[in-house]
Amino acid sequence: MNNVEVLAVSEAELRQTLIATAIAAQREGMNRGASGNLSVRCGNGFLITPSGMAATEQIEDDVVWMDFTGNARGSRKPSSEWRFHRDLYVARPEFNAVLHAHSTFATTLACLGRDIPPFHYMIAAAGGKTIRCAPYATFGTQELSDHAITAMEGRKACLLGNHGLLLAESTLESALALAVEVESLCEQYCRALQIGTPKLISDAEMDVVLEKFKSYGQNAQG
Ligand code: 13P
Ligand code: ZN
Repeated sequence: MNNVEVLAVSEAELRQTLIATAIAAQREGMNRGASGNLSVRCGNGFLITPSGMAATEQIEDDVVWMDFTGNARGSRKPSSEWRFHRDLYVARPEFNAVLHAHSTFATTLACLGRDIPPFHYMIAAAGGKTIRCAPYATFGTQELSDHAITAMEGRKACLLGNHGLLLAESTLESALALAVEVESLCEQYCRALQIGTPKLISDAEMDVVLEKFKSYGQNAQG
């Protein structure tokens, strides 16, 4: 098998996994209808879901390949949010998958326009002591992408003001897992806010938690 064939096989597999993950995200309640989008790094660019189509109506050929200058290859229009997908792959080489969702609880908090504080230690799963909320900008714009890249600094996830959730990970599988985790944290924070004022974890304790996360789970040493 030559290089071209190897690349072709892996791109075909990535297209399948991208759609399967978008459908799984919908089943997990991360998105309804055509809201949200998903991408995966592929060669010198990335594969991204088409614009305005529900995950369940997409087939492999609907997925669009884009390079990092924004040139598209495919029969469909790429997601209107291709700029923040592209900008995350360029700025953050550790990311291979980007997921955007309008999940209910993350979006509820995004509409308050506030960062999520360390009310629960699992906030560290998103990479830091808070999950930031990027200021509002029109969907699909470079301005929104610029805000998102800033809010993602040192983080794997952020809220997009008056819009939803954005996150990135090393694989499509881990992106979906992080999405479920962050949405569940957002639900817990919303519910805690309804009852009272959540007690926050101290800065020093979050340092301890962040350090412990480096060796937590099966993939890390320690
Ligand atoms: P697309 O269907 O163009 O991906 O847009 C959905 C969305 O969530 C825009 O922010
Ligand atoms: Zn959106």
